[in-house]
Amino acid sequence: MKRRLPLVLLALLVLCALAFFTVAPAVAEWVLNGTHPRGAHHVSERARSLHAALFVADMHADTLLWDRDVLARSSRGHVDVPRLAEGGVALQFFTVVTRAPFFANYDSNREGWNGVTALAVAGRWPVRTWRSLLERALYQSKKLHDAAARSGGRLTVIRTAGDLAGFAERRGGDPRAVAALLGLEGAYPLEGDAANVDALFDAGFRMMAPTHFLDNEWGGSAHGEAKPGLTEKGREMVRRMEARGMLVDLAHASAATFDDVAAVATRPLVVSHTGVKGTCDNNRNLSDEQLRKVAASGGVVGIGYWDAATCGTDAGSVARAVRHAANVIGVRHVALGSDFDGTVTTPFDTTGVVEITEALLAEGFTDEEVRAVMGGNVFRLLAETLPR
Ligand SMILES: [Zn+2]
Repeated sequence: MKRRLPLVLLALLVLCALAFFTVAPAVAEWVLNGTHPRGAHHVSERARSLHAALFVADMHADTLLWDRDVLARSSRGHVDVPRLAEGGVALQFFTVVTRAPFFANYDSNREGWNGVTALAVAGRWPVRTWRSLLERALYQSKKLHDAAARSGGRLTVIRTAGDLAGFAERRGGDPRAVAALLGLEGAYPLEGDAANVDALFDAGFRMMAPTHFLDNEWGGSAHGEAKPGLTEKGREMVRRMEARGMLVDLAHASAATFDDVAAVATRPLVVSHTGVKGTCDNNRNLSDEQLRKVAASGGVVGIGYWDAATCGTDAGSVARAVRHAANVIGVRHVALGSDFDGTVTTPFDTTGVVEITEALLAEGFTDEEVRAVMGGNVFRLLAETLPR
């Protein structure tokens, strides 16, 4: 009997470890990437037929963070290729996160445990990704490219303006084809060296936000402790990104960093996923003055679907934020940025995006304006800014 106890303990430990490596990432996603419960939703024929003819683009989803194959339809989270096809989404930006506090909040976060490391270990990512955030980004890029290679043409990664034009032409004959563009949330994978912009560019990344939930060596976060402006190294990073044709994403930037980037940028800026203070006033969302700065650069703002972006739980609240932004800066600078799979609760997964088309029509936008907001503006921006 005396020798039994350690064996039982050992068995328990093995069971816990197995649970950690098999079900923990899935359970985490069940809990963190939900949708608001709701009844049956009727979408009008007019919205359905307009939606079917659109090139829908979404500037933000953190899907690659989770332990799923993007080619397989899942009941977890918000985005995979089968659900994008069903939702009529042509282009999904896949944004890569490498560092995030365990319990992030909008007001102030300090350095501590990195929640993404737990996902990398539990998801059995290669050991090199456990410590190196550059490797962590490259691994997520590889995950997407491998899926595209296995997809038989269902998924295409866009790296150049030529890729985009070719995809749009092909999608004319195959409306279920889906394109992907890689972005980064937080410049952590540079690992302190702005020259690593080239490594990220070569791996297919075409958009990057300097900061995420923490102030870092590149600039201040809207949710950091001190919220400083763009650093000297940050300026060097912006210069290198612009030289390669990468979009600078000001989502999560502190007010000072936002202004500093707007002052030094020579190419269009984007905010990939955000709300507007005009309909939902918190320090994550953009002021009218910030909206005007993005528009002045020629860029676009992606309106998010989650409750703290819109102060609502339905497509109508997304449409109201779009209306406010369009009133301030014009329809041609407004787009979609769901934040699907970004540890948020949304009104629907990506199969329900037609509800936004309907809500925009109900908000009084014309068919042409809906076409621009739902993806036309992003298409134009990428056609003009992606490398040839
Ligand atoms: Zn985000």
